[in-house]
Amino acid sequence: MADKPSKNEEEYFAKRDADLLRQQRASAHQAAAEAERRSHRMKCPKCGYDLITGAWHGIQLDQCTHCHGLWLDAAEAERLVAHPEPGFIARVFQTVLRGVGGEKGLDP
Ligand SMILES: [Zn+2]
Repeated sequence: MADKPSKNEEEYFAKRDADLLRQQRASAHQAAAEAERRSHRMKCPKCGYDLITGAWHGIQLDQCTHCHGLWLDAAEAERLVAHPEPGFIARVFQTVLRGVGGEKGLDP
């Protein structure tokens, strides 16, 4: 009986070590990617300042506190475009540009 591992055993352990290393790297990469995404959540993609959410005429928009850029989710864009009132998009953006913020800025 030989004490040293057979070629098959060496290959088995080498493959197992390589698989473990690959899994650890993938896990570390995934964690880093998630941390990166978290650090950008509700931050302006243009200047990096905080975004605040407000609703204008029932349409929810995210606005940058620094450059005042506006961002909206796809569902809000669909609601804006599909709204039956003529000129609704212009009315929403005119209200936003006048600086009427949040739910309190809704029409009477
Ligand atoms: Zn900005």
